[in-house]
Amino acid sequence: MLVPSVSATKELLARLVAFDTTSHNSNIALIRFVEDYLGQHGVASIRVPTADGQKASLFATIGPAGVGGIALSGHTDVVPVTGQSWDTDPFTLTERGGRLYGRGACDMKGYLACVLAMVPALKTRKLATPIHIAFSYDEEVGCTGVRPMVAELGKTLPLPRMVFVGEPTTMAVVDAHKGPMRWAVTVTGKASHSALPHLGVNAVTYAGLLLGELARIEEELKRVAPNPRFDPPYTSLQVTQIAGGNAANIVPAACWFGWEIRRLPGFDGLDLDLRVRRFAEERCTAPMQRLAPETGVVVDLTNEVPPFQADAGSGAVPLALKLAEQNATFAVCYATEASLFQAGGAPAVVCGPGDIAQAHTPDEYLEVAELEKCLAFLARVAGWAT
Ligand SMILES: [Zn+2]
Repeated sequence: MLVPSVSATKELLARLVAFDTTSHNSNIALIRFVEDYLGQHGVASIRVPTADGQKASLFATIGPAGVGGIALSGHTDVVPVTGQSWDTDPFTLTERGGRLYGRGACDMKGYLACVLAMVPALKTRKLATPIHIAFSYDEEVGCTGVRPMVAELGKTLPLPRMVFVGEPTTMAVVDAHKGPMRWAVTVTGKASHSALPHLGVNAVTYAGLLLGELARIEEELKRVAPNPRFDPPYTSLQVTQIAGGNAANIVPAACWFGWEIRRLPGFDGLDLDLRVRRFAEERCTAPMQRLAPETGVVVDLTNEVPPFQADAGSGAVPLALKLAEQNATFAVCYATEASLFQAGGAPAVVCGPGDIAQAHTPDEYLEVAELEKCLAFLARVAGWAT
């Protein structure tokens, strides 16, 4: 079995970390680096770019065409370092005490580096089943970048038989995750002197009515049929952002807040969406507009990733367990691209190096031992494909 050297993998990781691919930035420099690297090893790749060309996913196949194969999928973007205090430069991979520090080292450039490190070994084999590489963007802002690539599977791109998504799971096999839905609520009131509140419509007060309803729903959700595979075992609801008002003596004309749910597989999010909209209409907008017709509440669903439950009939889970040398699967509360691949016809499973607890944090790191475990796993994937 040909396992690539850990030092070569670290070098690749250092290169990847050095590209500041925070989601609001272009990822093209990183994509170009990966294209060149693959090209040097005789592997052609296809970009799936955004309309403005500022970002792209990259898809490549090693091995025979016309057969399903396993896709190794990961995202190239990382979360911001803004407001975080780091001991090291987040974009310079720094090894210390068996740990590799850097933004994205864990989530999830470590996996990308392992996949790329495997390429020379894959090229020396005669693969019976192809290995696909599927690198995406904008995962951290709602798994939006992978969607155009998934839409091409089975059309301009081959449809993989299964997809291994390498989000950090400490190389455990994850066969289920929750699915977030996010909303932005804009409350438009009417300003007046706060000494004359009867001349205005208080946007913050009406936002508060809706926040109260969300707090009630949050408690209700905790009591609906728990799923003990998840921690917490229920569909969670959180208000995550809020802003409103301009001055201490003005009835606020505007309030905005963001909220989300992370729903269990099988939870009907659209039912909840409808309930909140109806509350906003009947208890906020209607009484507000009786005071001033230009006021009201707008509820926007801004992002949605489906919950993930691995397709039991696909064989992806037993194969991942075998190759990861594990005997149990796990469910997690964070979302991945797995559910989107599965919805696109490619059964998926999540298994990757690093601990999600280190993702998104200052001094994010990946243990070298995790990198080694991932390389061994990918070598078994290659062995299976040979
Ligand atoms: Zn991630």
